[in-house]
Amino acid sequence: MLEKIKTFLEKNGHSAEIIDSRIITTHKFNEFVIRIAGKFFLEGKLWFSLPELYLLERGKYGSLAHVSWDEKDEGLICGGVSENRHIDYEQLDEVYLLALNKAIETIKSLLIDKDKNEKEILEEFSAHWNFSVSSKTKNKVISFLEPSNEILELTSYVSNDDKFKDSVIFYRTDEKNLNPNYSFFKRLKSKNRGNRDRSLYLPIEQPVLPPAPNESILQWWFRLVENLPTTIREDLENQILKKTNKVFWILSSVHLGQNKHSWFCLKFERKNKSYLPLSVNCKTEGWNAFAYNVIIHNKEYIKPRGGAEKGLDDITVAIIGCGSVGGEIAKQLASAGIGKLMLIDHDSLNVENIYRHTLSSQYIGYDKVKSLSHFLKTNYPYLKVEYLFSFLKIFLEKDYLNSVDGVIVATGNPTEERFFNNELIKRDKRPWVVYTWVEGHGIGGHAIYVHPTGEGCLSCLYRDMYGNKSLNSIQNFLDSEQDIAINIAGCGTHFLPYSFIDAIQSATLATRLTLEALNNQLSKSSRISWKGVVPPDFKLKTTYRYKNFKKSLEIESLFWEGCDVCNF
Ligand SMILES: [Zn+2]
Ligand SMILES: [Zn+2]
Repeated sequence: MLEKIKTFLEKNGHSAEIIDSRIITTHKFNEFVIRIAGKFFLEGKLWFSLPELYLLERGKYGSLAHVSWDEKDEGLICGGVSENRHIDYEQLDEVYLLALNKAIETIKSLLIDKDKNEKEILEEFSAHWNFSVSSKTKNKVISFLEPSNEILELTSYVSNDDKFKDSVIFYRTDEKNLNPNYSFFKRLKSKNRGNRDRSLYLPIEQPVLPPAPNESILQWWFRLVENLPTTIREDLENQILKKTNKVFWILSSVHLGQNKHSWFCLKFERKNKSYLPLSVNCKTEGWNAFAYNVIIHNKEYIKPRGGAEKGLDDITVAIIGCGSVGGEIAKQLASAGIGKLMLIDHDSLNVENIYRHTLSSQYIGYDKVKSLSHFLKTNYPYLKVEYLFSFLKIFLEKDYLNSVDGVIVATGNPTEERFFNNELIKRDKRPWVVYTWVEGHGIGGHAIYVHPTGEGCLSCLYRDMYGNKSLNSIQNFLDSEQDIAINIAGCGTHFLPYSFIDAIQSATLATRLTLEALNNQLSKSSRISWKGVVPPDFKLKTTYRYKNFKKSLEIESLFWEGCDVCNF
């Protein structure tokens, strides 16, 4: 195969040779001569990746964007994202040529255009930093800090956790921005071995060039300190002069642009205590410096990286009713990145709730709101949760409405919901409201959105197909003139049968309307349904709407002109 590729490359004007199962090609442009070594990853597998191409004699080119370095003086040339390209096994020679030409183009543009090279290195600070991290410093650094613009005292400990053994964990000594319930943080903290090393956070507002190949970390540190703004440098000096140390950690973030920082960590070590040197003129002998990568655990990084929606940080949504539908909505909104949830419910988790409730059996017997708050804070580090163990009516009376951006009502009680709707419509200023409910037997579920100013409300649905007012919602799929509950053991043991999937599908509709409302995509009151099938073993009567409904998951208009609540 290598011979075939070599011949093909030569046919295309490259000079190529094979040394140690690698293809070495030589390329000339301007005053430069570069050599590239490449191979496909064979190792008993199929070729799932593009060929790896290395720039030989890497050291002599100094700092170069998109090219790594290592002890062998070879640099892997970055080929960009390869996930969306696929490899044609029949034509490996062409694949090789394509990758090679791209690599040559990359190197050429960087060597010829020094400004472009420098700009791109600044942008990929973390990738370059990685090259300076010695393979000997295997233990990781995990930081729970948000970027700040001042020097901060940090607390650190060494983890004894199974999966993060010997990792060094950093957080602000004042514990600001930390959610103590968050399970990952709790787990690391509960297995900590303590650490008396001194550590500081150092903010870097101007982009800096990462260490060049062959530049020592200590040299680079002096270069970094020299370029700090005077105030920060003086503050750093004052901090350093407080104490002599044997080990000193500097955790730092480089500001790359709006809401974008690169993090790095330095460890300084010495046999005997001394002041950390800040320039070559200090007492530097005996000090060793090492570069560490940082596992960043902060809001700025985690939320966008995990797919949370932008701009929801300052949003508060109330969820009234935290049963299987409301609980699921809470979880979905947390995943969407909502800043704060307010939960209202007056029930505790029962044995009967297991299987379709978001909460697991560990919460049986506890209030749903308190349990849900605990569950959410445990899993979503940057979510705020407040709760009220009470009724919808109390929520309304206590003026909580003014402190929320929107309300979701998922009590499953139409009387309560209509009361809420009719109360709200009277007010001049009200938040948007989403109502959602499940129909039994897997027949369907619904969500409606009531616009905070426009026409349309929950009561618009209480009409029949001829346009007369009705006691039943026209949205429903099950005929109201039948008994749809299941009776287990007589009076008081009736229940409406529906599964977790019915609850989740309905919750998803409510979440969707909520997110569209928050993103200003809903200009008027709307409604949406999902339609299931009639189970064969029940004699259920369905409505006219059910029989003719073909708009599952489509958003339709809600307003009815005959509504005497919102249109009088
Ligand atoms: Zn790259
Ligand atoms: Zn209405």
